[in-house]
Amino acid sequence: MNVIIFDLDNTLYPASNSLFPLIHERINCFMRDRVGIPDHLVNVLRRKYWQEYGISMVGLMRHHDVDPEEFLEYVHDVDVEGVLRPDPGLAATLRALPGIKVVLTNGSLGHARRVLSALDIDSVFTKIFDVRVAAYRPKPHPEPYQEVLRLLGVCGSRCVMVEDMAVNLKTAKELRMGTVLVGQANGQPYVDECIPEVALLPEALRRLAVDE
Ligand SMILES: [Mg+2]
Repeated sequence: MNVIIFDLDNTLYPASNSLFPLIHERINCFMRDRVGIPDHLVNVLRRKYWQEYGISMVGLMRHHDVDPEEFLEYVHDVDVEGVLRPDPGLAATLRALPGIKVVLTNGSLGHARRVLSALDIDSVFTKIFDVRVAAYRPKPHPEPYQEVLRLLGVCGSRCVMVEDMAVNLKTAKELRMGTVLVGQANGQPYVDECIPEVALLPEALRRLAVDE
């Protein structure tokens, strides 16, 4: 294996952390205040677009003519440093893993940099790919994965993807990547390994190597 591709939010820090709900709240505010969507439809539409398009931003671009750059700047304006703390144990664990490590997030580069810096794990990663990598086409669509493989010059079988959302691992598996779910597995055949937190990744990778 050459490359470990990490998701960012709820993968490199625990989902129990309150950062992601802050972003959801910013998305709701954006939909209500900037787009003018009535209050009672905000949650309904956010979930509907998220299910249909992978991220709510794409639904807002298609149906409400939203500028993706304005959206990204607005929704990621949250107090990352107030919520996340440096994680020296995680930094050491990730640094010791073989191969290069990159991030592929459906969020923005600026947000990813803030999160990695707050956790003090930014030096672990060679490259950050954000939702712009395939012209705002998000995971689980194949285009961002294919772009990452093309830009890194590797084939899928040389990569392992680490994610908290199982559906995003389905595409990874279709591209012949190894897959590690951070969270609860539900018998999905495209999930190779499941771990409750990313700090346990070394064990999962060892099991994956044995199965290869
Ligand atoms: Mg995530």
